[in-house]
Amino acid sequence: LPVVAIVGRANVGKSTLFNRLVGRRVSIVEDTPGVTRDRIYGKSEWNGVPFRVIDTGGIEMDEEDEMGNLIRVQAQIAIDEADVILFVVDGREGVTQADEHVAQVLRRAHKPVVLGVNKIDHVEQHALSYEFYRLGFGEPIPFSAEHGKGTGDLLDAVVARLPIAAEDQE
Ligand code: GDP
Repeated sequence: LPVVAIVGRANVGKSTLFNRLVGRRVSIVEDTPGVTRDRIYGKSEWNGVPFRVIDTGGIEMDEEDEMGNLIRVQAQIAIDEADVILFVVDGREGVTQADEHVAQVLRRAHKPVVLGVNKIDHVEQHALSYEFYRLGFGEPIPFSAEHGKGTGDLLDAVVARLPIAAEDQE
């Protein structure tokens, strides 16, 4: 199945979005020393298109580490394993330094990135998403992981960037 990785700094709502998309989490054996990758994989589908989801926020590191390093590990796992990266930011906080850091790493990924602006719980707040244009991933898509608003638009954008499965082409 194609893989969608949810990436973003802490507290932007990655887990909330993951839980909305995925019915159950599955564990896998970790293959990176010191990094726990349990409970971050799940399955989802949108408009009949199935895909796997990775919540990189669920990655834990054994050793005390500055946040920048955790972001790097999260982004690297996404870059290695994802077909599409779902970059989540917090529309209420605006662009932060940590967002810029994530963006910088993702720009080197050469993978499709969909930029989702979370915590836009009300239509009147849509304008809060505009400032995220400057992260350089095209049109920011406002949504609310908690209330489910805009998640359809987000998934439309994600699915549109997924590779077409080989069996669909036959
Ligand atoms: P993560 O660290 O990126 O996985 O973020 P979480 O999913 O743990 O969410 C961080 C905080 O943001 C929690 O207190 C959530 O309840 C809150 N949150 C997540 N999504 C939304 C949303 O759509 N709207 C609002 N208002 N709060 C949200």
